[in-house]
Amino acid sequence: MSNMGKLAVGVDIGGTNTTVGLIDSEGVMHGELCFKTRDYPVLDDYIERLSQDIEVLLRNAPGYELAGIGVGAPSANYFSGMIENAVNIDWYERRADGSVGERMTMIPFVEAVGRRYPTVPVVIDNDANATAIGEMMYGGARGMNDFIEITLGSGVGSGVVANGRMVYGHDGTAGELGHVIVRSGGRQCGCGRCGCLETYVSARGIVRTALEVMANDKRPSRLRDIAPSSIDAKLIAELAAAGDELALETFEQTGKVLGEALANFVAVTYPEAIFLFGGLAKAGDLLYKPTKRYMEENMLFLYKNRVKLLPSRRRRCRTAGRLRPRVGRDRKTFRQTVRISVELNQSTVISVS
Ligand SMILES: [Zn+2]
Repeated sequence: MSNMGKLAVGVDIGGTNTTVGLIDSEGVMHGELCFKTRDYPVLDDYIERLSQDIEVLLRNAPGYELAGIGVGAPSANYFSGMIENAVNIDWYERRADGSVGERMTMIPFVEAVGRRYPTVPVVIDNDANATAIGEMMYGGARGMNDFIEITLGSGVGSGVVANGRMVYGHDGTAGELGHVIVRSGGRQCGCGRCGCLETYVSARGIVRTALEVMANDKRPSRLRDIAPSSIDAKLIAELAAAGDELALETFEQTGKVLGEALANFVAVTYPEAIFLFGGLAKAGDLLYKPTKRYMEENMLFLYKNRVKLLPSRRRRCRTAGRLRPRVGRDRKTFRQTVRISVELNQSTVISVS
């Protein structure tokens, strides 16, 4: 056994950016790098670039050894190690003659990274599960065995932890609460069905609600002065905070759909808390108050007033390294996303060792 300190590599793969970080067991970052995912449309080239960045990070952290590599990605399957049918990630095969081949729908990501790093554990999970693991290791869910983390972003993701373990289901894809149908015959969803939670409480969903509210409610609103294509969740939150009645009504309706859905989710695992994370959760009380009210109103008596609704409380990580991302990106988002996947990595390393 070596007495060298261990560092884990975390990789967060997004449709736009890939971020790579090194973290120690105390949660201190030892370097972070970022590159454009779409600059490497051939999987082999992407893995090559990723490996280069990992090597740069490791060279800048002498005295440590690599404990493992954890990857967070949309549509990733923890069991299979694959990214399966991701809608916003395009990778292509390289043909034998060197040309670019078919678009890949099943991407054997763990296997591809594992070929470069055969002696360390490599794991992948979808980003919503990685977020929940981060909450469990460093955030508000420390010490909790049962909780649900809902990510309200451009889509709606969720991670469900029951009896202290992430719920994966029989083949790794459990917990897609964003695609529970909450309104029969409701809005068209990207998954091909209608009425999914995601179509109401995602960043796009709340904009659709605002447009509906404007069409059905004749009260004046500053929303009417803005081109529909320029309305976004942040703007609705700003107007609501300033007292705009239709913006407030938009949050009321969003909280109703979300609160009812959460009341139903509670019946499955009876969590101690539900954490909200992501852009829309930043609206604070504008979202939490109606959501909590409708959640309690619709909760079975067994669970009433016994489930906390909380904002994600993952602490910011400290940075020890000197490396900084090479491409511009909102710093906070960057840190957050790197850390999520690093946390996923660590928890796996801990369970492996
Ligand atoms: Zn759906």
